[in-house]
Amino acid sequence: MSKRDYYDVLGVEKSADDKAIKSAFRKLAMANHPDRNQGDDAAEQRFRDANEAYDVLKDPQKRAAYDRMGHAAFDQAAGGGGFGGGGFSDIFDQMFSEFSGGGGRQRDQSGNDLRYDMSISLEDAFTGLQQDISITIPSACDSCSGSGAADGSKPSTCGTCGGAGRVRAQQGFFAVERTCPACQGMGQVISDPCRSCGGEGRVQRAKTLAVSVPAGVDTGTRIRLSGKGEAGLRGGPAGDLYIFVNVDPHPIFTRDGSNLHARIPLPMTTAALGGSIDVPTLEGKMARLTIEAGTQSGRKFRMRGKGMPALRRGNPGDQIIEVQVETPTNLNKRQKELLEAFSNSGDTSPESSSFLERVKRIWADS
Ligand SMILES: [Zn+2]
Ligand SMILES: [Zn+2]
Repeated sequence: MSKRDYYDVLGVEKSADDKAIKSAFRKLAMANHPDRNQGDDAAEQRFRDANEAYDVLKDPQKRAAYDRMGHAAFDQAAGGGGFGGGGFSDIFDQMFSEFSGGGGRQRDQSGNDLRYDMSISLEDAFTGLQQDISITIPSACDSCSGSGAADGSKPSTCGTCGGAGRVRAQQGFFAVERTCPACQGMGQVISDPCRSCGGEGRVQRAKTLAVSVPAGVDTGTRIRLSGKGEAGLRGGPAGDLYIFVNVDPHPIFTRDGSNLHARIPLPMTTAALGGSIDVPTLEGKMARLTIEAGTQSGRKFRMRGKGMPALRRGNPGDQIIEVQVETPTNLNKRQKELLEAFSNSGDTSPESSSFLERVKRIWADS
């Protein structure tokens, strides 16, 4: 199998300058690095090829030799030449610090964020709520104060990685950095682990936490309790606890953002003659609503500022009442007579009459 041209491998022109070569190599090496492509042989091959090509093209002397003679320039040199193992450039140190994000070791030790689901009533969402919750979560071990080391002993620096948490393995032509197998990347080993936590520095413990639910929350609102999540490994920083709020359906009110909607029955006589009705509010009190004479079914009344409070800044919502005019049922004899007399006394339903007229016109025209 003939070897690919080094310029092709890096995807650069023969005339490319050092900067272009470095940048092309960097891109390839990042994309195909074995740490990011575990088990991908093709990626590993590309990584290997890119390293080989870069090792030659970054060096003016080697590049000149390669330009003159091609791969033959290095056939005899293989193994004994100046670019065998250990030719790893400073670019790698830079890359690895990017992979680990600088503080990679610390991050590995921090606890996970946790989720707790809390269901509350619409009334509680309206007023806000203080509630204690009981949860069992991994918490810092008391016996060892989270260090994971038994009483009187201390974690010691890992001898395998010297505390770095990562080790380099030279694999033929290229080096690969991996999490240290001796300390799992923590940089420290515990020779005498704490009996209570087995060296983890955390144990499952039931806890009671006070949760403050602000007024105005809705289903989907998340409340973050900073540092109340899972304890970190061996004293690492704890994660956060997120309270996921669910507001239960209400028998009377439905919610639309900060507005509240309710349908209220309205006696036919009040609708016709006018008057007032009492309507419920989430405050737990009844509010009086004035009804004009001649109110139709389906009419909506807006009670400004009587909806849900704003969760953050802003005005509270409105309460919107839709009235449903109720047709009288179970009429006694006298009531029937009164309604019949009323019905015969003249036209009081202009909408119905004009509607019938319209229907008749449509039929006459067709
Ligand atoms: Zn412990
Ligand atoms: Zn180690």
